Amino acid sequence: VDTILHSIKNINIRGNLRFDAPLADLTTFRVGGPADILAHPEDEADVTALIEWARATSIPWMILGGGANILVSDRGIRGLVISTARLNRIRLEDGLLVAGSGSAISNLSARAADMGLAGLDFIYSMPGSTGGAVWMNARCYGGEISEVLAWVDYLDEEIGEDGTVRMVRRRLAPGSGDFSYKISPFQNRRCIILDSAYRLEPGDGRELWKTMREHEADRKSKGHFALPCAGSVFKNNRDFGAPSGKIIDSLGMRGMAIGGAKISDSHANIIVNAGGARAKDISQLIDLIRRRVLDELGYDLEPEVLRVGEWN
Ligand SMILES: Cc1cc2nc3c(=O)[nH]c(=O)nc-3n(C[C@H](O)[C@H](O)[C@H](O)COP(=O)(O)OP(=O)(O)OC[C@H]3O[C@@H](n4cnc5c(N)ncnc54)[C@H](O)[C@@H]3O)c2cc1C
Repeated sequence: VDTILHSIKNINIRGNLRFDAPLADLTTFRVGGPADILAHPEDEADVTALIEWARATSIPWMILGGGANILVSDRGIRGLVISTARLNRIRLEDGLLVAGSGSAISNLSARAADMGLAGLDFIYSMPGSTGGAVWMNARCYGGEISEVLAWVDYLDEEIGEDGTVRMVRRRLAPGSGDFSYKISPFQNRRCIILDSAYRLEPGDGRELWKTMREHEADRKSKGHFALPCAGSVFKNNRDFGAPSGKIIDSLGMRGMAIGGAKISDSHANIIVNAGGARAKDISQLIDLIRRRVLDELGYDLEPEVLRVGEWN
């Protein structure tokens, strides 16, 4: 371990590194243990150097966006966690609004409205980063991120003849079928979304803000921001005839708790950290809901929240 730590301290990046770094406050559940190494790269060169180092030393790595859709285990994450927080530049380029992956998706929506650009108003006040929203193909209020996406620039691993891994920048201009319900093409490759560009229409800023405030108020009324959570725990499945929240409700599970983890009083498809929850509590509650819905109704709900780190 010491040699590894020594070798990463010698790589030359502008951003910073922390060791045994707590992650709970970087997630919306506010639970979970530390990362062995937490990196905050400043730019593409930093990300490249970090991943090439991780691949050369066989250290596992993962990308952390806004932490709004993950459950970090109590023991934390072994290896290198790369936060996109500082890759957060938003700019206009060739008539497209372009966002660094670490910019908050809600900030991007606000910037678009301030510029009089319509198309991202649906996603205002949703937690998380733009990179995470693209990776998850986030959707709400009748909109889906892929519908306004012009292109995505990402770093991809390329393995050379000598077996060394090099990161190369590629661009994906989404075609039909690349994205679907909560699915993006980035979910099945080891890559890092750097920038995403949006094709937006001229709109009236005041009207856009009115809609955006309504979405925010609606989320507040549903208790989204009252307690730490990660939004919907399970994906919806049309074949099951009702949204996952309704299905869970039909079993009278609302309010059920394990330790500090509780099925939200406001929405049965949301688990909240009602105070002092462990990741284990939340994980067990997810499993319990899934098992009961399967046993009693025959529907196998697919978790949307991703469990990351070291689990048993
Ligand atoms: C109160 C609340 C309400 C929510 N409402 C909604 C909703 O209405 N609709 C909805 O779709 N979701 C909703 N969510 C879930 C969450 O906001 C989205 O899934 C969001 O897109 C996650 O983004 P993130 O940056 O937080 O991703 P993270 O949780 O940090 O990461 C999620 C996954 O994406 C990967 N990832 C993140 N950034 C990158 C990158 N730059 N490159 C490669 N991989 C990356 C991570 O490695 C991880 O696998 C809600 C969450 C909360 C807390």
